[in-house]
Amino acid sequence: MSHIYNFSAGPAMLPADVMKQAAEEMISWHGCGMSVMEMSHRGKDFVSIAEKAEADVRELMAIPENYKVLFLQGGASSQFSMVPMNLLRGASTADYINTGAWSKKAISEAQRYCDVNIAASSESKNFTNIPPLSEWSLNPDAAYVHYTPNETIGGVEFHTIPDTGNVPLVADMSSTILSRPVDVSKYGVIYAGAQKNIGPAGLTIVIVRDDLLGEENPGTPSMFSYARQAKAGSMYNTPPTYSWYIAGLVFSWIKKQGGLQAMAEVNKRKAGKLYGTIDTSDFYSNPVDPVCRSWMNIPFTLAKPELDSEFLEQAKESGLVTLKGHRSVGGMRASIYNAMPETGVDALISFMKDFENKNR
Ligand SMILES: *Cc1c(COP(=O)(O)O)cnc(C)c1O
Repeated sequence: MSHIYNFSAGPAMLPADVMKQAAEEMISWHGCGMSVMEMSHRGKDFVSIAEKAEADVRELMAIPENYKVLFLQGGASSQFSMVPMNLLRGASTADYINTGAWSKKAISEAQRYCDVNIAASSESKNFTNIPPLSEWSLNPDAAYVHYTPNETIGGVEFHTIPDTGNVPLVADMSSTILSRPVDVSKYGVIYAGAQKNIGPAGLTIVIVRDDLLGEENPGTPSMFSYARQAKAGSMYNTPPTYSWYIAGLVFSWIKKQGGLQAMAEVNKRKAGKLYGTIDTSDFYSNPVDPVCRSWMNIPFTLAKPELDSEFLEQAKESGLVTLKGHRSVGGMRASIYNAMPETGVDALISFMKDFENKNR
């Protein structure tokens, strides 16, 4: 196969230009005779790579001065415990919004550390909508409010930032970070596993407001303390150097595309086309309330589920791979992060129309 489009939810495809540059620099970075993989994380070369990556993500997301950006390991899943460990600050309760599979995982981990108040849930709607903010029962004494701006499995996305007053807002942005501009100042903490929209697995970005640092639960391991990691410049131990470097290449690539506003325009258009195709056919469907459909992960089912495996096989023959839906939802899922070119979405749409015509 000369060319494929990879619709995987994560680890997901990376921009072709980034892969090409990484290949060119793989064995000898900038002619230094070493791979980035082989460099000391405290050496001048890697420190310059690390600093440039941080400066670029700060510029892209317009991250205010009073926020730290951490480059950690452990995936978004480690944040499910690091958030309560670091943010409870003596309080015994936190609010969580339950909009799908990833919210649920965050909730069950937080329950090990505090009383979790489920301030809103769409579970009774099978996670196909977002409960209106006016119906949320937020607790003014909560240490923080946690939500999942984009549910990667259900394909449900918040298109506005919920207002939680003075209670710090915490977001698991794993599958939507960098897809559009975001007002970081509205958040206490933003975290994201890298393998969807940032770079390779093994890196987790945490953006945390300064005033929330330094009151971690007694007994919090040093590795899990935001304050310690911030003080050490994310180098309390050896950071995930190669993933950090690739993330840096992705940040420069996004800058070259015109930044997050430009990404947002393309992302909105890509998603709009695909939902348009699904909605104008009786053959495909997507169950999510149109006001909160994801730009990044688009699940859809066939009216004839007996054709699922044929759909996947023929898609693969056409160079369209990893379209199988999550086992909990079934059907298909097209993940169309920043790195998925619009031509990939066009190719998928044209395949879907053909498949429908042959099988209706
Ligand atoms: C993928 C994903 C996770 C899990 O990430 P890991 O890095 O594998 O721990 C958590 N939350 C969301 C929203 C995700 O998409």
